[in-house]
Amino acid sequence: MSITPAAAINQLIVAKFGGTSVADYAAMCRSADIVITNPHTKIVLISACSGVTNLLVALANGISDITSRQQHLQQLTNIHQQILDQLQHPNTVSDAIYALLDDIASAATQAATKPSPQLTDQLVSHGELLSTHLFNQILVEMNAAAIRFDIRTVMRTDAQFGKAIPQPEIIRQLAQQHLIPLLATHVVVSQGFIGSDSQGNTTTLGRGGSDYSAALIAEATDATTLEIWTDVPGMYTTDPRITTAAKPIKEISFSEASEMANFGAKILHPSTLVPAVRQQIPVFVGSSKAPQQGGTWIRKTVDQAPLFRALALRGNQTMVTLTSLNMFHAYGFLAEVFRILAEHKISVDLITTSEVSVSLTLDQTDTGGGAPTLPLAAVEQLNQLCRVDIEQGLSLVALIGNRMSNSKGSAKHIFGALDAYNLRLICYGASPHNLCFLVDEADAKSVVSTLHQQLLE
Ligand code: ASP
Ligand code: MG
Repeated sequence: MSITPAAAINQLIVAKFGGTSVADYAAMCRSADIVITNPHTKIVLISACSGVTNLLVALANGISDITSRQQHLQQLTNIHQQILDQLQHPNTVSDAIYALLDDIASAATQAATKPSPQLTDQLVSHGELLSTHLFNQILVEMNAAAIRFDIRTVMRTDAQFGKAIPQPEIIRQLAQQHLIPLLATHVVVSQGFIGSDSQGNTTTLGRGGSDYSAALIAEATDATTLEIWTDVPGMYTTDPRITTAAKPIKEISFSEASEMANFGAKILHPSTLVPAVRQQIPVFVGSSKAPQQGGTWIRKTVDQAPLFRALALRGNQTMVTLTSLNMFHAYGFLAEVFRILAEHKISVDLITTSEVSVSLTLDQTDTGGGAPTLPLAAVEQLNQLCRVDIEQGLSLVALIGNRMSNSKGSAKHIFGALDAYNLRLICYGASPHNLCFLVDEADAKSVVSTLHQQLLE
């Protein structure tokens, strides 16, 4: 990569620290060290402390049992109080922390009787609002010129609560106006995950959205590097919990990494790389627990483009099969199906068709857990058109690599290794970088380790 002299001088690193990297006082100190070590790190986006968003989501869904609600609130208090107690000057931030905890309690009471997507976003945003107060104070206590900044000033989104869509052009304008001027004198500490619509309502970008936030801010500020600090030292050829033979990946292309993020490698939020690719910002992924171990660099061009690079696994798949004899030699059927799905704002992931049927899987980006569901209203509309079958208990296996749809023998290699398994919904050929299929949840891990052994070891 050629770096112009100006860019070399004006290096700007945006660093994001995930929930485990700010889980407690010790974790926050380790992350703060990483920030301080590199003077080019001027923007720091962080997640809520580990576990906090889950507690907030539970409260936002409405806990009517008062004892259980109190327990959730108590856990939230404990997590933040423990960090507060270890600060040198807790009084500097304690009022702000207690005020936010009070807000959570009243919003939780409201949610118990009348939950709503808007209230959910307002409530869950408190995780990041809390963690940034504490992390900023830790940096200040380490003598950094840190300043806490409310990202809602710049992170403009639409009003789709729970999975709001960011508006990059407005974000850029607002960042140039409100954020960039601070960088001359400060390290800015701000929130991942949360944003604001044009009315000033708090929104969120979907679970795990902090990575995406950081990428959007990197894009908006013309950053030269985006660092994603998490609890694993970068990307692996597969999840090391599935097979100990998984190997770290030092360098990977945007295209391959996007496929990986998209198809289940939990390390990056699927949308993260979109702004980075748009602006060609190299992305580093590393562990805040072991920064010296290095990590993975994701760039436009890399030295090596192996045929098979990695395997990703994603559980909780919902497969929808739509069957209609009217589809036979007809036109407009798929258009109608997708019109209905679009009307219900349903995003489709995989798709495969036969002459009279189409199978697809539903994307999962909102704040809820578990397998995504098709809203009843959508099922009713689709039923007017065709038969609708829904299957769950499936996992998606994605093989990521290069030139895969263009190399003789690669399919034989792959499917030969999977003789013993029942494969559903195979997608192959649309992208040279991936091949994916659904398998029974019960088979998923062994499918991945078998393929890993055959193709990557
Ligand atoms: N705190 C949010 C979550 O747990 C966002 C993030 O960590 O990226 O989903
Ligand atoms: Mg995350």
